[in-house]
Amino acid sequence: MSQQKIGTKCVQAGYTPGNGEPRQIPIIQSTTFKYDTSEDMGKLFDLEASGYFYTRLQNPTNDHVAAKIAALEGGTAAMLTSSGQAANFFALFNICECGSHIVASSSIYGGTFNLIAVTMVKMGIEVTFVSPDSTEEELNAAFKENTRAVFGETIANPALTVLDIEKFAKVAHEHGVPLIVDNTFPTPVNCRPIEWGADIVTHSTTKYMDGHGAAVGGVVVDSGKFDWMAHADKFPGLTQPDESYHGIVYAEKFGKEGAFITKCTAQLMRDFGCIQSPQNAFILNLGLESLHVRMPKHVENGLAVAKFLEGHDKVAKVSYPGLESDPYHELAKKYLPNGGCGVVSFELKGGREAAESFMKKLRLAAIETHVADARTCCLNPATSTHRQLTDEQLEAAGIPAGLVRLSCGLEDKEDLIADIANALQ
Ligand SMILES: *Cc1c(COP(=O)(O)O)cnc(C)c1O
Repeated sequence: MSQQKIGTKCVQAGYTPGNGEPRQIPIIQSTTFKYDTSEDMGKLFDLEASGYFYTRLQNPTNDHVAAKIAALEGGTAAMLTSSGQAANFFALFNICECGSHIVASSSIYGGTFNLIAVTMVKMGIEVTFVSPDSTEEELNAAFKENTRAVFGETIANPALTVLDIEKFAKVAHEHGVPLIVDNTFPTPVNCRPIEWGADIVTHSTTKYMDGHGAAVGGVVVDSGKFDWMAHADKFPGLTQPDESYHGIVYAEKFGKEGAFITKCTAQLMRDFGCIQSPQNAFILNLGLESLHVRMPKHVENGLAVAKFLEGHDKVAKVSYPGLESDPYHELAKKYLPNGGCGVVSFELKGGREAAESFMKKLRLAAIETHVADARTCCLNPATSTHRQLTDEQLEAAGIPAGLVRLSCGLEDKEDLIADIANALQ
């Protein structure tokens, strides 16, 4: 299976029907599953056998789609969550607890920033934010005795910084902790962080993976490479008996390949219940089937729009890692040789007011709190997604108040550029 190319996996991985079975992944729209004896079911509760008993823990539709995404990322296991927020929370909380510390890139999605900087702090989990451009020495200085994870985004939403995954992974591993990478923007079609040393990969599947603005969702993928037992003292949740499952030691029973996702399902999904509905998993899979066809078009449109904006006299600055003038172009060439995504960020001369009046005049591009679907849309982060952030935090995250985030959809690029040109006039 792993020899297959990415497009084949987009279409076929995760589900192989048997003789006479449905060609498309069936939607198992059932909360519960029937057993002949209590003993049969008891084995599932004890994690002695694998199978289904209640959709909050596992559902066959979800498992097929998760298996496809695991194959796309080159991981060993994956779980779907109800949203990207739930995916990032689960990825972190599966190995962090009250008293832990996280090192995170400051250039991340506003919702994730809030999760780590505010909500998880209330749970007693500390964070140190670092610049995505940090040197190894600067990264090393951010670690503490209680650091349990490093977090960053391959291409940050909306700052469009590119993470030096190899560097972040190396430093994380020197400190005996995993690197978690949110790979939402490039998708595994354009970058597979596990190939560069990331241990856990997350997504908001709400974005390109679904790709049609139809279903909110998330996914956590485990590379199966991190050796929890080698750092047993740091990760007692994986390396010591779980009393809520009769003393199972996840890292022993499920090995490097299965421990992380099994614990995440058995504990976090059981207790927090952020399950993706089977209906949404089905919709997500329809998007995945064409992901490898859509991403090159998003990239083509993004690059064309970025080049147009770069040459326009009303535009102060354009961020798009595919542009040669972009400070992240070298990293993009390394990690995103086929291009990154269709999202372009730019700052208009005239700041917040100019951005607002420009957006009002657009006809094709709609103002939406969304990115990364088939229809072009735009947003001013400072007045929407990032409005919780102070001006200093906005600067640190690389998001000036007059920034417009434009997500290029799948329309013809000539029409998009004409719309933008008209609105800029
Ligand atoms: C949208 C987004 C999220 C949050 O995902 P939801 O599905 O909206 O919960 C997390 N990370 C990134 C990079 C995103 O773009």
